[in-house]
Amino acid sequence: MAAWMKRFIFNCRNSTSRITGELSHQEIKQAELKIVKMIQDEYFIHEVNRKKLNSLTTYKDGEGILRVKTKITYRKDSEDFKNPIILPSHHQVVERLIMTEHKKNSHAGLQMLLNILREHYWILNARKTVRSVLSKCVICLRHAKRNVTTPLHHSQKIQSKMLQFLRSSVLI
Ligand SMILES: [Zn+2]
Repeated sequence: MAAWMKRFIFNCRNSTSRITGELSHQEIKQAELKIVKMIQDEYFIHEVNRKKLNSLTTYKDGEGILRVKTKITYRKDSEDFKNPIILPSHHQVVERLIMTEHKKNSHAGLQMLLNILREHYWILNARKTVRSVLSKCVICLRHAKRNVTTPLHHSQKIQSKMLQFLRSSVLI
């Protein structure tokens, strides 16, 4: 959405060199960074939220994006992995991002999803945040319910058989 809006604004300003067709990877990436910057600016303007960064070594990159400086120096790792983008825990867009990645990766579980997100982002309170988003996935909830009811039925059957046995032995 942001990428389309950005293109629309660009095309209004540059009527002679308008861009048409599908959005390019570059346009999507630029729009994504713009949204990230908006989230960070909005969240870290408050001192109480800035304090949450005290334990981290942070810096702003050339685009003004706040990142964590990790100690990872292995050359083959991507720049995003070495210096992930910081995201707040309580934000609608962040929750949406977590849910999108969860669905995109075949409803990945907590640990796998944390690893996937960590490739690019450093979400504050990540484990708690991801767990809370996962608890809202209707498909996973339905699946978990189904898995729980089966053994319950089984144990209920055993229980009733035991009761029957007990009753019969008392009667005898
Ligand atoms: Zn799910």
